[in-house]
Amino acid sequence: MSDVEVLVIGGGISGLSIATSLVREGVSVELWESSGRPGGKIETHADSHGYIMERAATMVLNFRPEVTRFIEQSNLVAKKSMLAPIVRRYMMHDGKLVTVPTKLAAMVSSPIWSLAGKLRMLTEPFIRKGGHENETVSEFISRRVGREVLENAMEPYVSGVLASNPDLANAYSVLPRMTRLERRFGSLTLGIFMHKVLGRRTATPKETFSFKGGMSTLVESLVSNPNIRFRSGHTAVEITKKGSYWRVTGSAAGTGLSVTARQVVLSVPAKAAARLLAPHDHDLAGLLRGIQYAPVTVVHTGFERRSIEHPLDGTGFLIPRRAGVAATGCLWMSSLFPACAPPGRVLLTNYLGGARRPEVEEWDDERSIAEILRVLTPLLNIRDEPEMVRIDRHREALPLYHGNYYGRMKQVTNCLQQLPGLHLEANYRGGVSVRDRIVCAQSTAHRIADELAQSVVSEKTYSLNKHPAISDVDASREFEKSVLTD
Ligand SMILES: Cc1cc2nc3c(=O)[nH]c(=O)nc-3n(C[C@H](O)[C@H](O)[C@H](O)COP(=O)(O)OP(=O)(O)OC[C@H]3O[C@@H](n4cnc5c(N)ncnc54)[C@H](O)[C@@H]3O)c2cc1C
Repeated sequence: MSDVEVLVIGGGISGLSIATSLVREGVSVELWESSGRPGGKIETHADSHGYIMERAATMVLNFRPEVTRFIEQSNLVAKKSMLAPIVRRYMMHDGKLVTVPTKLAAMVSSPIWSLAGKLRMLTEPFIRKGGHENETVSEFISRRVGREVLENAMEPYVSGVLASNPDLANAYSVLPRMTRLERRFGSLTLGIFMHKVLGRRTATPKETFSFKGGMSTLVESLVSNPNIRFRSGHTAVEITKKGSYWRVTGSAAGTGLSVTARQVVLSVPAKAAARLLAPHDHDLAGLLRGIQYAPVTVVHTGFERRSIEHPLDGTGFLIPRRAGVAATGCLWMSSLFPACAPPGRVLLTNYLGGARRPEVEEWDDERSIAEILRVLTPLLNIRDEPEMVRIDRHREALPLYHGNYYGRMKQVTNCLQQLPGLHLEANYRGGVSVRDRIVCAQSTAHRIADELAQSVVSEKTYSLNKHPAISDVDASREFEKSVLTD
């Protein structure tokens, strides 16, 4: 007998999502988290003045029905905090902030692209289908829509939102929907058009939201599910095979402990998974160890509203690499979610480093703040110093889907087939966003529940076959009864 059906290791959003999805499938789950709280990277900090700041994920950008259902089933709908109805996005361009055009008419008059760049974009439907699984984001975007779109739109997105580098990032892994559109329809323009036409009846409307009190509300609500046995301060140190079960040995407050489970899900960063898997599959451990992570420094700045001239009428801005600064972007958090700053104040959350400037992680507070103010002050016409600054540093913020990442993940999947009952469910596999984590977790949970149900059936069949005194008819009746009562 195992102690638990599934042991999930790692209590970030990946581990919490899969634990939640498994208990919904009727599976018994224990969840180990090495730190003293759930959430992993996700953590909200509310200061005594009323600023509410996010250490990592600030919001969920959703267009997937699985996420909508997950939020509903987790009784989180009433706790959602919707994005204020603003649509403007800004980009730093030639030392100024310009709006990023989303409509065709605005695109024609936008200063972001030259006439040649605009004409190049228009040729997209006529570019022949090409590409391969090893292609970089830069190669893919330049090939389809031209270098200007890469430098003025895709590079700032990949650097600012994913902390990555488009010259190294794998297009199949980072832009899975776009690359699929090309493979299916031969062109992005045609693909988007067809997608709109075909998807009109079924598509989930896009919505962006956080939660009342911040993103910690999400993780705290999930962990409060009484069917999940959450064990904080529990670090997994070894996994061994014990018959058809897995034994996980760990430590909690200096004391050793162990649990047997029919299946184990590793929802920990790639290097931690590599350490646990090394005794079982040297190649798999090597593939996981080879995944690089980028550091990111988050600088939260609070200002009196009157000290900033800019209307702050948008989501914030991204910064292209040719601007030559270490900052990658700034979110105008209080424009998005007004409750995250006290009345008469604004909260601007700034990002530094990533793969563009990894050395920034060594900068001290003074240098990090100075760099941010050097960028913000002229762009937003700021007259006074910030009244509040908080810095959050992530040494390993996000996994970089660099090199032939698509091939790497295929090899990881192949290796896992030789380790039945072991699963990898974390942000280096299938997308880094909270949305992608929830979607992947649900499909893995479904697969695990199916495997557990099948193994119950085969174990029962095996034990019945060991009793020849029972007739076939009796056996099949016993079998039906046992399956139905399970
Ligand atoms: C600065 C920043 C901004 C972001 N902004 C957004 C955003 O706005 N929207 C969005 O959707 N996403 C955003 N993301 C991405 C998202 O926050 C992360 O990808 C996601 O939270 C990672 O979740 P995870 O569970 O995979 O990993 P983690 O959160 O890293 O969780 C892994 C957990 O495993 C635990 N652990 C490790 N080893 C062991 C062990 N041996 N035993 C037990 N436990 C162990 C760790 O303590 C940790 O809690 C952002 C990320 C960063 C860094």
